[in-house]
Amino acid sequence: MRIEADRGKCDGLGMCEAMAPDFFEVGEDGTVVVLDERPGEEHRQDLAAAVDACPVSALRLT
Ligand code: SF4
Repeated sequence: MRIEADRGKCDGLGMCEAMAPDFFEVGEDGTVVVLDERPGEEHRQDLAAAVDACPVSALRLT
């Protein structure tokens, strides 16, 4: 599984970081940093919840 983040869309509110702090962090420039772009399948449920929580649909699991 791969996490893709569209940093151009990200508004930096940090919902993803709040829901899955091991995988997302809002960086100093106010946009998301993906900490692990290729997480294991065991994290799919948590990551899907974080992706769904993004208010601007900047995140995608592929
Ligand atoms: S939830 Fe979406 S908009 Fe907010 S920091 Fe994460 S990627 Fe950016």
